[in-house]
Amino acid sequence: MPIATVNPANGETLRTYEAMDAEEIERRLQLAEATFRTYRTSSFADRARLLNRAAELLDDAQQDIAKVMTTEMGKPVKQARAEAAKCAKAMRWYAEHAESLLADEEPAAYDVKDSGASRALVRYRPLGPVLAVMPWNFPLWQVVRFAAPALMAGNVGLLKHASNVPQTALFLEDLFHQAGFTQGCFQTLLVGSGAVDEILRDDRVKAATLTGSEPAGRAVAATAGDMVKKTVLELGGSDPYIVMPSADVDRAAEIAVTARVQNNGQSCIAAKRFIVHTDVYDRFAERFVEGMKALKVGDPQEEDTEVGPLASEQGRTDLEELVDDARRSGASVLCGGQRPDGPGWYYPPTVVADVNREMRIHREETFGPVATLYRAADLDEAVLIANDSAFGLSSNVWTRDEAEVDRFVRDLEAGGVYVNGMTASHPAFPFGGVKRSGYGRELSGHGIREFCNITTVWHG
Ligand code: NDP
Repeated sequence: MPIATVNPANGETLRTYEAMDAEEIERRLQLAEATFRTYRTSSFADRARLLNRAAELLDDAQQDIAKVMTTEMGKPVKQARAEAAKCAKAMRWYAEHAESLLADEEPAAYDVKDSGASRALVRYRPLGPVLAVMPWNFPLWQVVRFAAPALMAGNVGLLKHASNVPQTALFLEDLFHQAGFTQGCFQTLLVGSGAVDEILRDDRVKAATLTGSEPAGRAVAATAGDMVKKTVLELGGSDPYIVMPSADVDRAAEIAVTARVQNNGQSCIAAKRFIVHTDVYDRFAERFVEGMKALKVGDPQEEDTEVGPLASEQGRTDLEELVDDARRSGASVLCGGQRPDGPGWYYPPTVVADVNREMRIHREETFGPVATLYRAADLDEAVLIANDSAFGLSSNVWTRDEAEVDRFVRDLEAGGVYVNGMTASHPAFPFGGVKRSGYGRELSGHGIREFCNITTVWHG
């Protein structure tokens, strides 16, 4: 894939970039290592000052970078601004909390004594340069939720961003530098995915984090495994959204629309499979389809656009194939399902019902504004359908019955259970999945500790 900005709203190539050559990569790896040697000894207060400054600069640049993101990957510009604001918030959150999240831990006095120590503690030390392989769907947020904790922990970052968001990738390098972080603290490597293996094998790179597709995750994890390096993987999702009879069904249907089409439907934590108890199925389906049909699809740079184009032509083709395959196999398309004429990689908000487990659309991730609807006879069947997926990122349940909530929390195979609401990440809560959605956690104290050397210090 060339490294280029291609506007998904019309398919026009606006700017192309040369990939960095081996010499430039070497220079950057050297700089990362040299910077780490001193940066690792900096104080939390100094790191926090720089990160707070980055947050201020990002707030100042919000309008401009939002337009760039929208140009590069097609998300509605309002959502792009919200993404930038969320990044600044996460930076401030880690600036404020990192020191306490990484404070020395003291084991219980009786365990210290039992080990024969006069005193003992656990200290979180940084690992070194961490490679971040990142996707285009939240081109600022995916990076910042890695970078903010990594920098606060004393690590340095090397970003290999998706090839279709080079301007956002360069903006991020510049942002951290302008904030006062020395150049080697955060560098963008403008390279294609083919360069990742060699970079990850380099001894100076200590660990990697990847957000993206399963094949990309598998490739990075295989190399990291070969080199015995730590990885965190945040891969796809096909999150269930379960609606039970006691729920506020109209509200559930209204939020379902947002949960499905946020970011033009290209979100790993978007609700994708809507599993509705048979008693409220018809009402939910009617309201949900109404809501999907009412969405304003159009130019993502327009303020009132709710759904823009998909980020790539391939992405639209993949999505279209899933819907067509379902239709051929007997599913009913309740709305959408037909690509529009004209320029841009648009695909309409679509609801597919009568889905069965043999269909590709049931098994694969629908990365776009396409929802599947399932009818469940009772809670047990809802859980069965929900767990009948290779993925396990997050889940959403709508019920006012506490006993049902307990069952869902006990039984759903996912890294999150959101009750009477939709999944959304927040700096204070761990984020990540089980099964083929990946492993490890981002955000919160769990996220910042992923790339730390958890060191036992024992005194005789
Ligand atoms: P990819 O997983 O291919 O891209 C994500 C990142 O991984 C990019 O930086 C990409 O680089 C890199 N990459 C890709 N292949 C490799 C590899 N073999 N070794 C190392 N790095 C690699 O996502 P796509 O853009 O191709 O999207 C395909 C599908 O992935 C989507 O339809 C969706 O299902 C899923 N996806 C999930 C995301 C999520 O948030 N969980 C985000 C994006 C995609 P480059 O751009 O240079 O290829």
